[in-house]
Amino acid sequence: MLHVNENYSKIQASYLFTEIAHRVNEHQAANPGAKIIRLGIGDVTEPLAPAVVEAMHKAVDDEATRERFHGYGPEQGYAFLRDKAAEFDFAKRGIDIAADEIFISDGAKCDCGNIQELFAQDVAIAVGDPVYPVYVDTNVMAGRTLANAGGRYGGLVYLTCDASNGFVPSPKVLEGETKKPDLVYLCYPNNPTGAVATKAQLQEWVDWARDAKSLILFDAAYEAFIRTPGIPHSIYECEGARECAIEFRSYSKTAGFTGVRCGYTVVPKGLCAYNAAGESVELRPMWTRRQTTKFNGASYITQRGAEAIYSPEGAAQTKATIDFYLENAKLVKAALKGMGYAVTGGDDSPYLWVDVNGDSWAFFDKLLKGANIVTTPGAGFGRAGEGYIRISAFNSRANVLEAIERFKKM
Ligand SMILES: *Cc1c(COP(=O)(O)O)cnc(C)c1O
Repeated sequence: MLHVNENYSKIQASYLFTEIAHRVNEHQAANPGAKIIRLGIGDVTEPLAPAVVEAMHKAVDDEATRERFHGYGPEQGYAFLRDKAAEFDFAKRGIDIAADEIFISDGAKCDCGNIQELFAQDVAIAVGDPVYPVYVDTNVMAGRTLANAGGRYGGLVYLTCDASNGFVPSPKVLEGETKKPDLVYLCYPNNPTGAVATKAQLQEWVDWARDAKSLILFDAAYEAFIRTPGIPHSIYECEGARECAIEFRSYSKTAGFTGVRCGYTVVPKGLCAYNAAGESVELRPMWTRRQTTKFNGASYITQRGAEAIYSPEGAAQTKATIDFYLENAKLVKAALKGMGYAVTGGDDSPYLWVDVNGDSWAFFDKLLKGANIVTTPGAGFGRAGEGYIRISAFNSRANVLEAIERFKKM
């Protein structure tokens, strides 16, 4: 008899987005004329940059000729893209990451999920609360947690991110733990809170991880939204991070690639974990092995599109789109602050994290019924998200301005 992987049954049904859809549909059915504005979207709304579209069209034409046809590409990605990423994302910022430490993929979500294959079954894991659910659920599926009780999985260490720590936990909170986490997931600029970590805060984690012989899994999916000078764009801006961190990058939010699918993971040479005998084992060859065995590369057309993001035109166009989203965030943030709400995020991130002085879902309902506005209840991202809602700046300007008017009328 074939047995299933019972770890899947431990996963809390993805209550959040189904419950939102249910409540929105019910409201729309009861009020057929209501013009609902969705400020809960975690997906981009603006089209691809013209330079990207042009490069992808050209790549399609390449595939249509015998001379310039590309079949299977290198599993780690084409050199033309890895070289550009190494130059523009790292070298130009004074960060020491080489092209052969960059592994192109079909997105950061897959890489975040796949990376834990490199580690032993019994590793201890720490995540933020609230959290991007991928870090948690992929480890649950792999059997690295116990059952869920009261919204938290047994065996996971939850790092509370709230107003008391500015939504950035310090490794000092781990001092009381009997077992130090081996893997710590950090995401800055953060989804869902929109908070950013300073260099000193990230350096504290890097110092902790080196000392603990632990690994930081750093998700920099929103790096391109950083505008505040001095906020690190990469964990590798911290001294010693090459020895204790893997970084995930994505073109999804950077350049509207959520539907195109491309990102990359950085695994520095010399970065090690340990075998049962306590000897160090380099992770980069292991990730190379994993990718060459289980992944056949992002498409040639996609990688040509991603390459175009680094051209002068592509860079200017994608920056303009992010500036547009950031202006949306700024407008909503100013309006909410003007109404007396405490709001985090939005300066270096497309997300606003709003303290609603009460129950997340009750506030969600109030906005839906009173203003036809959809948000995301913070409680859906973890216990520490209760009392907050997430508002996304991924929307048209017209919708954002209309939403602000409706907030003010409430
Ligand atoms: C959107 C997002 C990603 C990007 O995932 P892709 O698979 O590259 O689209 C990664 N991490 C976080 C936290 C995100 O919000």
